[in-house]
Amino acid sequence: MTSRIKVQGGNGILLSVGTRTIALDPLRQSEAHLTFISHAHIDHLHKSTGAGTILTSKETAYLAKERGFSYNNVVNKKDGLELLDSGHILGSRGLLIDNEVFYTGDFALRPRAFLNRGETPRCEVLIMDSTFGTPSYKFPPLQDVIEETNKIIGRAFDKGRPVVLMGYPLGKAQLLTYLFSMWEPVYVHESVQRMNRAHSVFGIDFGKEYQTYTEKDSSLLGKKPWLLISPMRNGRSAMISELKKNYGAITIAFSGWSVNPGYCNSIRADYALTLSDHCDFSELLALVKACKPDRIYTCFGFASQFAAYLREEGHNATPITGGQKFISEYVQGR
Ligand SMILES: [Zn+2]
Repeated sequence: MTSRIKVQGGNGILLSVGTRTIALDPLRQSEAHLTFISHAHIDHLHKSTGAGTILTSKETAYLAKERGFSYNNVVNKKDGLELLDSGHILGSRGLLIDNEVFYTGDFALRPRAFLNRGETPRCEVLIMDSTFGTPSYKFPPLQDVIEETNKIIGRAFDKGRPVVLMGYPLGKAQLLTYLFSMWEPVYVHESVQRMNRAHSVFGIDFGKEYQTYTEKDSSLLGKKPWLLISPMRNGRSAMISELKKNYGAITIAFSGWSVNPGYCNSIRADYALTLSDHCDFSELLALVKACKPDRIYTCFGFASQFAAYLREEGHNATPITGGQKFISEYVQGR
């Protein structure tokens, strides 16, 4: 079967299987009749001209629209194509084609709050997220991160100091709202609130809607301490500078990249904790083991390094290069 498949990088991934051609998470409108969108992070969305059919989950279509990406001709299913939970963010899906080829999109194996473990179907060809595809990326158990965060918040609150929890406005910020809203009071940044509301539409229960913090007016923060769920911001940004100067706020950044020794300093956070919506290196290997593919294509992040590692382990592995998106959590706004 593998001789019938062609995988091409450049504009997301263009996949030909037999007579089907499918654009996987293209960066721009594709010529393919069918486009698959795995999830609603900006680096997996494209501006559509309206041509062709979009295959995606209803959650992703909704979240994309909330983020300014509208699609016509959206379908949630198609013959021979199965959308499987990829465990990354709300609505994220992998695509299983004819029970033979599996594209993971961005993928996570460990359950986190309201997110499930990504599904790992047996397949002949695996096109996989390799964001953290080098051995140095080893993530701690979620429970350890929760405990560490609560300790930092507890110590800060004892001193009357507020705490800012920072992560992507879509995905990470909802996990942070869900996991830490037992502290009082909780405020959420306006960009996070929009995405929290979109999650509530799909039944994710945050307990209640927390008050919205807007950067133009921080007067409601007057009474300290408080917890703010915020998009990732550099410590030198106007927003964090003001929160530090006026309230003595402590910042915690949540990211898989925090494994890098220079990460915390690079974004000028007080703390950086490892909470990721991707697999760590050992989980990537577990994904390969579960899917038992004959051929592997790696994409995103450390695609070349991970493919090289897999080849050394005896796998038939090729990185997809050329115009692929390098995922960086240093970039805001995903
Ligand atoms: Zn993503």
